[in-house]
Amino acid sequence: MSLLTLENVSVSYGQFRALRDISLSINKGEAVAVLGANGAGKTTLLRAISGMLPVHTGRITMGETEISAITPHRIIETGVAHVPENRRLFPGLSVEANLRLGAYPRHARPFFREQLEYVYTLFPRLKERRHQLAGTMSGGEQQMCAIGRALMSKPQLILLDEPSTGLAPIIVAQVFSLVRKIRSEGYTVLIVEQSVRQVLKVVDRAYLLEAGHLQASGSAQEMLDSKTVLHSYMGIKS
Ligand code: ATP
Repeated sequence: MSLLTLENVSVSYGQFRALRDISLSINKGEAVAVLGANGAGKTTLLRAISGMLPVHTGRITMGETEISAITPHRIIETGVAHVPENRRLFPGLSVEANLRLGAYPRHARPFFREQLEYVYTLFPRLKERRHQLAGTMSGGEQQMCAIGRALMSKPQLILLDEPSTGLAPIIVAQVFSLVRKIRSEGYTVLIVEQSVRQVLKVVDRAYLLEAGHLQASGSAQEMLDSKTVLHSYMGIKS
């Protein structure tokens, strides 16, 4: 069953069309990657889904609800959680205070305590560090905190924007294992990434975005085997 559907979605910055005619769908429980080089439109895609950018033409639906015409606040209420690039934690607040902020949607507030316990069970490291200021943790731990904060909103769909950016290779491996973990908890995940090989090990399927167009799609294995994908489009770096 399709959870998220994009039909012929285009997004512009002024005169510049950053996404053109994008159609894709993600089933409940799937993990899907959108691959693409710098500037391909990956961040724009996630920002359009979470309502931070207006959709110029086309339609985005979450389950039965059309979300392309509602406010970001209401989109969160439909179960979309966005983990932005560079994590955007509040560095001067504790880990727990950052997590608390994730529970602000109305549907999540009554479950704050149990959701916090759930996040701490999933990521014991966050519990150990719950009083530490988020800004003093390692990059990998901060990413864990950002994902934990997204889980606090009791989401159905988690959007991850380049979670490996700026992290040392050993930490990158840990971040992808976090993705595997939330996926095994049954969350639906849409992840945009430039670390092609690594992300294809943790997702079911992938789309390839080039200059605002979807150029290819397939199972993770098909994408890994595709020389076109790896060489022509990505100039493979991972
Ligand atoms: P990166 O890996 O660098 O984050 P990306 O695939 O996420 O790349 P986007 O950030 O979505 O790419 O950008 C897609 C295109 O839109 C690029 O050509 C970019 O220059 C342009 N763009 C992004 N944000 C804006 C903006 N606020 N105003 C104008 N153009 C923008």
